Amino acid sequence: MKVIRTVRALRKHLSSVKGFVGFVPTMGCFHEGHCSLMRRAKKENACCVVSLFVNPIQFGPSEDLARYPRDLANDTRRARTAGADILFVPDVAEIYPSGEPLTFIDLKGVTDGLCGVSRPGHFRGVATIVAKLLNIVQPHSMYLGQKDAQQVVVIRKMVDDLNFPVKIIVCPTVREPDGLAMSSRNMYLSPSERAQATALSKALKLAHSMVSAGESDATKIIIKIKKLILDETSASIEYVSCVSTSDLRAVRRISGDVLIALAVRFPSARLIDNTVIKFSDDKKISR
Ligand code: AMP
Repeated sequence: MKVIRTVRALRKHLSSVKGFVGFVPTMGCFHEGHCSLMRRAKKENACCVVSLFVNPIQFGPSEDLARYPRDLANDTRRARTAGADILFVPDVAEIYPSGEPLTFIDLKGVTDGLCGVSRPGHFRGVATIVAKLLNIVQPHSMYLGQKDAQQVVVIRKMVDDLNFPVKIIVCPTVREPDGLAMSSRNMYLSPSERAQATALSKALKLAHSMVSAGESDATKIIIKIKKLILDETSASIEYVSCVSTSDLRAVRRISGDVLIALAVRFPSARLIDNTVIKFSDDKKISR
């Protein structure tokens, strides 16, 4: 695996690659979730490019940019083991040579709800860096995690609207054995918060069982999810929403594919999780 720090060196290296290029954009601090994306990108392409860039423009002024976990030595090891061919690690000046850019990618609608409410400007920063990275790497496929469901919808829309010639592959959320979705931010949790955090996946499972038992009223499902989280944790709930998987508009009834997404705040960390309920014509529910 080659570690490359400049756009120029990356482009030079990629110009000699024959075959498909698969791309995994990340902010580092790799866990099995990241590695699953890398393994899949390597399996399906001649060359797997992983970017590691903690993108300052997607963090709000009171967010965790300064303390975001960084461990390049460990990340290099994990990316190599997962099969990455290139680890692209630019510094901030390489990506934003004149400071904050003058050009941003802004999307309407899909960035307003869910995490967009408490993180204004976050998805503008995400869309802008992903557009830049797509122009730099020019991959055939890009691998994203379902863990960040709103990010997937935002990037899909951007790629469609701006005709980026890239296929988006969404990989399942990788979880700890007790159900907690893996996240670089889990390490902020105190031992007691970590134990309580299993309530999130438990609440999403409860939603599945309610739908399997015939419940289709989104409000009733949301109330049960909130109750379980409030009963079992000290976290405050930022949102629990049932939305359409394609445009993230709120739905009242569970029919068609529905994304149930949530965000909670523990004193030490903000966590998100989600699940998709697939409602096929014969009313069978699958996970
Ligand atoms: P991040 O480094 O947090 O920006 O994440 C980089 C990529 O890894 C994004 O596409 C995430 O959705 C994905 N990812 C993060 N956590 C997980 C997880 N637990 N399972 C699968 N993919 C994940």
